[in-house]
Amino acid sequence: MPKDKLTVNFRFRERLNKMPGGKHHNYCYQCSACVAVCPAARFNENFNPRQILLKALLGAEDALIGENSPIWLCTNCYSCYERCPQDVRPIEVIIALKNMAVEKGTAPTNLAKLSENIAETGMSVTFSSAVKRRREELGLPELKPVPLEELQEIIKDDKKE
Ligand code: SF4
Ligand code: SF4
Repeated sequence: MPKDKLTVNFRFRERLNKMPGGKHHNYCYQCSACVAVCPAARFNENFNPRQILLKALLGAEDALIGENSPIWLCTNCYSCYERCPQDVRPIEVIIALKNMAVEKGTAPTNLAKLSENIAETGMSVTFSSAVKRRREELGLPELKPVPLEELQEIIKDDKKE
């Protein structure tokens, strides 16, 4: 058997199929239209949504949801969603992969802190009095209060599923 034989990890693909947004990875025909509109790919040579989709088609679990995966470089801008001719919705596949990484415990630790902040305050970054003062100096409007109870109810319901 040749050493470089490629084996598709169908088990990983089946798991990805079951994640919300994951199953559309099957439709990718590698045209690169998503790369052409991707701001993250333009500014970072380590990020390429077509390559992420190729790895998903191969079931490359370690490359996609292991430590140092490039999926975290995606800015969630949704440009690829609009451009993809195959309705792959690359951003949704990437979000599905991020959720798999969280389940596996390989997501970057600073993201866990952001999630905790959202659950506790409704904001990803703590809003200090210095930030408030700076906003006033810049003439920015006051931020509207976050509907924290509503948000926490949603989080609670989501954990039940
Ligand atoms: S995700 Fe869509 S746009 Fe990107 S390579 Fe696949 S088919 Fe093309
Ligand atoms: S959502 Fe992510 S992958 Fe899609 S175009 Fe934006 S940065 Fe690129």
